[in-house]
Amino acid sequence: MFSRRVLQIEPFQVMEILAKAQRLERQGERVIHLEIGEPDFPTPEKVVEEAYRAMRRGDTHYTDARGIRELREAISKHIYETLGVEVNPSREVLVTGGVSLALQFVLASLLEPGDEVLITDPSYPCYPNFIRFFDAKPVSVNLHSDYSLDLEDLKEKLSRRTKAILINTPSNPTGTYLTMEELRALCEVASEAKAWVISDEIYSGLVYDAERSPSILEANYERSIMLDGFSKLYAMTGWRLGYVVASEELLAQVLKLQQNFYISPSSFAQHAAIAALSLHDEVKAMKAEFDRRRQYIIKRLKDIPGFEVHEPKAAYYVFPDVSEISTDSSALAEYILDTAKVAVTPGIAFGRRGEGHIRISYAASLENIAEAMDRIEKAVENYG
Ligand code: PLP
Repeated sequence: MFSRRVLQIEPFQVMEILAKAQRLERQGERVIHLEIGEPDFPTPEKVVEEAYRAMRRGDTHYTDARGIRELREAISKHIYETLGVEVNPSREVLVTGGVSLALQFVLASLLEPGDEVLITDPSYPCYPNFIRFFDAKPVSVNLHSDYSLDLEDLKEKLSRRTKAILINTPSNPTGTYLTMEELRALCEVASEAKAWVISDEIYSGLVYDAERSPSILEANYERSIMLDGFSKLYAMTGWRLGYVVASEELLAQVLKLQQNFYISPSSFAQHAAIAALSLHDEVKAMKAEFDRRRQYIIKRLKDIPGFEVHEPKAAYYVFPDVSEISTDSSALAEYILDTAKVAVTPGIAFGRRGEGHIRISYAASLENIAEAMDRIEKAVENYG
């Protein structure tokens, strides 16, 4: 009755955990949510104000399918100021409905049935679904034990069918990011294989030991595609806005998809996004708070027997190895939710090699994180 394409899509497990947590809440339980990948901060006031202003002025209609010129120029300026890379706002930037949609349009523009796309294992759970949706094949690449990219394994996984290498730097779920040397080495390998490098950099501004993470744009590789957006750094998940930076030739294809499938991104959200790009103090304050929580949660988790923590340097996730407690991360996450009333995501949701881990998001108040750590510590003592 339904298409083979849609039937092979796996549900987004985080959403399922959230649904179960909400069921418990309806029964009167106080659940602490550490499963969701979105900032708990409100969208900064200046951004909200700008959206109101745009709406009142009548900017409530379809826009240029590439996104409004002023926003593309602001993105281009932002990239120049943060990376020192020049991108042409007329031809090399396209704004769309979040990195999610950007990635689908990019994959739809590149993939033929049977093509292969290399992704790391673990990685963002939607990637394999997106790739399969276009009748292509996700191929897993290993990470080292410190979650850095295993380039040798990546080389071995390349084949005649490799169309693209999809990286996420900084990474959800591990919180690590690729160094400039690693990005350059990756591009060299990709160049030999004539593969595209698609770099999802949605967490690029949420880096705690540097201003931002290195970008694929700095590697100056002709088949590179950079994706970024407003969801994470500016606490704008609900505004649904992201962008692609790529060659004019590729964006000409993406543009056709946007025109047909989406028409244009939200008009007032785009005006508000210009204001987001000029925020400094607000972003700094949110980052500082995330960092405080990061340091706290690392310290607490290190004290829980059976939790082996590799320090995340970016995003807002910790991905401890809990295999000493259980090698069934789904069962453990379920137990933690049922017993401690803390929602976390099982590592298996991020790939086979994510098994034996859980992902904990620290996009929650320090107070809630502290209570969640107390509850988890107590609950896992009696596991099994
Ligand atoms: N890419 C990664 C790695 C993510 O973790 C997420 C959201 O959690 C997204 C993309 C979705 O981004 P957007 O809200 O821009 O669609």
